Amino acid sequence: MTSNRFDLRGKVAIVTGGNGGIGLGLAHGLADAGADIAVVGRNEAKSKAAVEDLKARGVKAISITTDVTDKAAIAAMVDRVVRDLGRIDILINNAGMSIRKPPHELELDEWNTVIQTNLTSAFLCSKLAYPALKASGNGKVINIGSMMSIFGASFATAYAASKGGIVQYTRACANAWAPDNIQVNAILPGWIDTDLTRGARKQVSGLHERVLARTPAGRWGDIDDFAGIAVFLASPASNFVTGTAIPVDGGFSVMA
Ligand code: NDP
Repeated sequence: MTSNRFDLRGKVAIVTGGNGGIGLGLAHGLADAGADIAVVGRNEAKSKAAVEDLKARGVKAISITTDVTDKAAIAAMVDRVVRDLGRIDILINNAGMSIRKPPHELELDEWNTVIQTNLTSAFLCSKLAYPALKASGNGKVINIGSMMSIFGASFATAYAASKGGIVQYTRACANAWAPDNIQVNAILPGWIDTDLTRGARKQVSGLHERVLARTPAGRWGDIDDFAGIAVFLASPASNFVTGTAIPVDGGFSVMA
């Protein structure tokens, strides 16, 4: 172990959806601790801006335009990270989206889109990055769940199913890969101010006020609230922590 348990210098991280929102907040934490970063997303302009932002923190950063629902594209992305950055130590499965409809109105193709983007993508990225994570000797997988991993909401039909699935998938991988010294954990964000929730606040009336009233911290989360947990779960500091689902929610999940 290094003398600084939180030191990520020499490590390489993939962050899906790392070009904005919570993914960029997680990437900031990793870069500030010294990790080189591969940003994975579809929007090239957003990815380019994120890479410049991360490079300015003194690390190598690349962007790889990838749709995380496409297995062949993920395989090519993983190969490119190993080729260009040399290794993979950290995988953050963060890319996600929602289609907000009650169960009786959600169409099958909408269900499939949400499940494939939020859950199947984590399976594919983890499976395809596994050989490199194992070769790292101390691999780390961080999956992004949600308060919908714990609670339900009438408008979060496929979303809640996908985020509940992420927690159970995390536990399965933690068991499977412990012998390889790979730790697999989930982060459950509370309500965070991003493009995703800006959309939700437009669609769901009263949401903004309800979140404020129900969050003990008395505020929405910010993407910077994710830098610390990213470093902890990606570093040797968490080597005996695996299979957990850690809320980063200003107390939302413990408010009676
Ligand atoms: P954003 O909409 O800001 O970010 C979503 C990210 O996912 C974008 O970077 C987007 O990249 C990427 N993405 C979406 N679909 C795909 C795809 N098919 N292929 C590749 N990349 C994709 O939202 P958040 O930052 O809020 O969300 C990040 C994660 O956090 C999600 O998993 C979300 O469910 C979760 N979360 C968010 C909460 C919140 O309050 N904001 C609360 C709980 C969980 P691009 O635009 O380039 O496609």
